Amino acid sequence: MTKLIRLTTDADIGVIVIDNPPVNALTHPAVPDGIAAAIRRVEDDPALAAAVVIGHGKTFISGADLNEFEEITSGNHPVPDILPLLRGIEDCTKPVVMAVHGAALGGGLEVAMAGHYRVAVADAQFGQTEVRLGIMPGASGTQRLPRLVGLAKAAEMCAEGTIVRAAEALKLGLIDRVVDGDLLAGAIAFAREVAGRPTRTTRERTDKLGAPDQHAAIFAAAREAARKKQRGLTAPLLAIDAIEAGTRLSFDEACQLERDLFRQCLFSDGSKALIHVFFGERTVAKVPDVPATTPVLPVGCAGVVGAGMMGGGIAMVFANAGIPVVVKDIDQAALDRGMAALQRGYATAVKRGRTSQADADARLALIKPTLRYEDFADVDFVVEAVVEDMDLKTRVFRDLDATCRKGAILATNTSSLDLDRIAAATRRPESVIGTHFFSPANVMRLLEVVRGKATGKEVVATTMKLAKRLGKIGVLVGNCRGFVGNRMFDQYRREAQRLVEEGAAIEQVDRAMVDFGMPMGPLAVGDLIGLDVLYHGRNDLREAEARRGQPPPLEDRLYGLKRLGQKSGAGWYTYDDDRRATSDPDLAALVRKWAAEAGVVQRPVSADEIVERCVYALVNEGARILDDGYASRASDIDVLFINGYGFPAYRGGPMWYAQTIGLPKVHARIREFHQAYGPAWQPAPLLTRLADAGRTFTGRDVGAH
Ligand code: NAD
Repeated sequence: MTKLIRLTTDADIGVIVIDNPPVNALTHPAVPDGIAAAIRRVEDDPALAAAVVIGHGKTFISGADLNEFEEITSGNHPVPDILPLLRGIEDCTKPVVMAVHGAALGGGLEVAMAGHYRVAVADAQFGQTEVRLGIMPGASGTQRLPRLVGLAKAAEMCAEGTIVRAAEALKLGLIDRVVDGDLLAGAIAFAREVAGRPTRTTRERTDKLGAPDQHAAIFAAAREAARKKQRGLTAPLLAIDAIEAGTRLSFDEACQLERDLFRQCLFSDGSKALIHVFFGERTVAKVPDVPATTPVLPVGCAGVVGAGMMGGGIAMVFANAGIPVVVKDIDQAALDRGMAALQRGYATAVKRGRTSQADADARLALIKPTLRYEDFADVDFVVEAVVEDMDLKTRVFRDLDATCRKGAILATNTSSLDLDRIAAATRRPESVIGTHFFSPANVMRLLEVVRGKATGKEVVATTMKLAKRLGKIGVLVGNCRGFVGNRMFDQYRREAQRLVEEGAAIEQVDRAMVDFGMPMGPLAVGDLIGLDVLYHGRNDLREAEARRGQPPPLEDRLYGLKRLGQKSGAGWYTYDDDRRATSDPDLAALVRKWAAEAGVVQRPVSADEIVERCVYALVNEGARILDDGYASRASDIDVLFINGYGFPAYRGGPMWYAQTIGLPKVHARIREFHQAYGPAWQPAPLLTRLADAGRTFTGRDVGAH
């Protein structure tokens, strides 16, 4: 045994405690070896009649130790194999009772299923969640789970990473009892009940595997669901293959096949990308010059100025986190509209079963509408979400500065205005910060936190911590135009429009990017945001661009034709009353005419070129942003794009994706584009340096994994 595993006894019951903080991961070889040794001691000790396996601290076994993954995939570590451990547990002649609290996920569930019985507290979670990291169960999960819960449910759990709680697990047959009160006491009592009974092994059970004539339909449905919900990932389909193989092969043969498929997933680009994202989402909270010891200010109540689309959503975000919030608008009618929208939002959440009526009522009760700034006197954190206008915003900040108590943080939800100018309207620029929520604010996970020149470290630390409390992923960025997300996204959308001008069909551009994995094409996104909003958002750039001889994007012309996107029934596409898009041949003809006027010779454009140019436009701008210090790490940019813009996680984000292609190759293409299409494609100096030196973005990350 190792010191991570303890064996104690309670009269005739051996209690095996896993103590590998923080989450009792299956660290190799200490944890599996320790459990195996403890099981052998229970077997050999005539005084013991059964064993209980339980996790110390807040959880059972939460899964594999992800810190080992990079070593494994780079070939420095063999792929761990816990099958012998599981066989050892199952072959113990005395009953082994797995006692689960917290989580039994991935390898943790595989260990739990090797026990003869499972008991759990009500909020315990069970899942084969490997698929979230682009892998699949690798130690009999695809074989033991179907034997306990049936093929269809097992296929869903393995392919989609669904988590079930104890009550459902009991119904499914995954566990044998839900323990009220103390888990260890309940598990020991259960072990005494079953002690002396012959043990039954999961692997020998076949009663849940169903009749062979039902199998084809079950697996066809599972594959269809996986293709739809898990686009671009092979792991879900391979997990289903392994489960299906289990209906034909012996248990051991199927485990061997599962292991081969698991290895295939483990070494795939998709898995490496998802593991990069997993660590990226943990690293993003660390700000290089704001140590973890920086004091954070308490946020007990909040305020929101502007009860429009964003302000309303932001108020819900605070209320959903249990933070009381005052919401102000300019007059009663606007306030009533805002509150009505909030009520509709909660009613929909109740109707769709996302929340209970009682919870929705409690949350709504935390939101207090007001027309008076006086109600902001005691709030700790204010988010301004009035219309995008510098004069209006500076006025609002002056008013807030005059009303809010000293030390209260004043945040703006601006998507493009200069934070430092807004901060300068106050006498407390150190307390001013940007909190750029994404629409719909109560749904999207990203919060782009914008740091101004004067923003204090405590204010940064408080806002980053608040982001987490609000259920958001906060990414800290610097104050440049469009910040990081929109600054990059603008380049991407512009490139899409240039491709159309050069001869690509509108729907071809969108289709290529959807096939790449984006949730919508870049032109359809423009129609969704509103081409008027995008036009006005560029008001400050137009003159300077014209001076530089840079032609305006095509969407300016669409705006001129009052084709504003979905809201006006026409933009890049035409829309019916249900906002269903169809292509517009008249617009295609117009684009040809505009191209001819601009002297652009149209030509066929391939899907590969569309993807390269749109994605490399992101990469080049991202490299510029890193060089200028507006983002701390390439992985921060990746996390931002995945959570705010729907960049496919299995490609790891734009910067990671560029590395998988190879920075020298990406750089060479960008140089070709530069020659062909001019200054917009000037290679970012950082990209040139890294490509020339054979280095990667990740290698220069601060605190890189
Ligand atoms: P909106 O027009 O829906 O809402 C603005 C609200 O502010 C209106 O209800 C208006 O009555 C109110 N308002 C105006 N002046 C006010 C004042 N002096 N005091 C109090 N309330 C006042 O606009 P929106 O789409 O919610 O955008 C708000 C902000 O969020 C803008 O800065 C915008 O750039 C930013 N933003 C918008 C999105 C988006 O997708 N819409 C995304 C991110 C950020």
